[in-house]
Amino acid sequence: MSLFSQKKKSPVWIQKTHYMRADEFICSACGCKAKKAYKKCPRCGAQISKVKYDPSWVDEAEFVDMMFDD
Ligand SMILES: [Zn+2]
Repeated sequence: MSLFSQKKKSPVWIQKTHYMRADEFICSACGCKAKKAYKKCPRCGAQISKVKYDPSWVDEAEFVDMMFDD
């Protein structure tokens, strides 16, 4: 099953969580970061109704943070 087999890819917010900071939402269409999951991306104007939680994304980023912390 290929990821490219989807007919149309609708943009989603990719939720990035932090342990110590507020969550961030990343537009899958343009990659901009937002503080919350807007109905419409403030940057590219895409209509976004879905939020995708991506824990693997987070773990990696937090791990890097930890490596360089202290
Ligand atoms: Zn966008």
